Amino acid sequence: MSGSSPWPDVPLGQAPAEAAGRVPLLLHACCGPCSLEPVKYLREEGFEPTICWTNPNIQPLEEHDRRLEVLKAWAADVAHVEVIVAGDDRDGWERLVAPACFDRKRRCKACYALRLAEGCRVARERGFEYVSTTLAVSPYQLFDACEDALVGLARAWGLTPVWRDFRPHYPESVTDSRELGMYRQNYCGCRFSAAEAAVERHLARDWRKAAKRARSEGREVPPRPDFLPG
Ligand code: SF4
Repeated sequence: MSGSSPWPDVPLGQAPAEAAGRVPLLLHACCGPCSLEPVKYLREEGFEPTICWTNPNIQPLEEHDRRLEVLKAWAADVAHVEVIVAGDDRDGWERLVAPACFDRKRRCKACYALRLAEGCRVARERGFEYVSTTLAVSPYQLFDACEDALVGLARAWGLTPVWRDFRPHYPESVTDSRELGMYRQNYCGCRFSAAEAAVERHLARDWRKAAKRARSEGREVPPRPDFLPG
């Protein structure tokens, strides 16, 4: 899909009722914990988010359902945000994303494109003008690739992308979601990310042990692995 909107005749600005004078915005959400700060800060900016759930990347299916239930419970009980459950194109994910396997850059770019395209389709169908994503919270996502996907797809669908750097609020999202007792997953979503996260946990554990031993023996501490937060 490129160029002009595929649905040029559908009027924009007919999304659900504006809350307290705020501007309706469709927010693609990857999970509950990553939704907390975007909803908070987008509201502060004058938007009223409606969440769109479309994450066929999350494996296994039980994990997908668990994350969705966590999101829905928070949206209903705490945030008072509507959640639209959109397409779950698992065949498309296997066809368009999975062949990249452990080539993370290629894989994640394709994964963002698949999910955000569905988010934009729903936004257009429901009459939203503005579209955003919670993927801009986690420092573990490929920020620039995600921005390119959102901006390119939103424009192709005739929408306005609302891209914000929510990463400075990531520590806040960890604290807030823990306080709310929300389930926090330890991998991004796909089976490849689960394997990568497991390897990194082992490497981190080995590094901590080696660093502790080096300190106790007065030796130089080995270099910290890149993926470990400072
Ligand atoms: S790591 Fe996350 S964004 Fe990347 S392909 Fe897997 S699920 Fe998608």
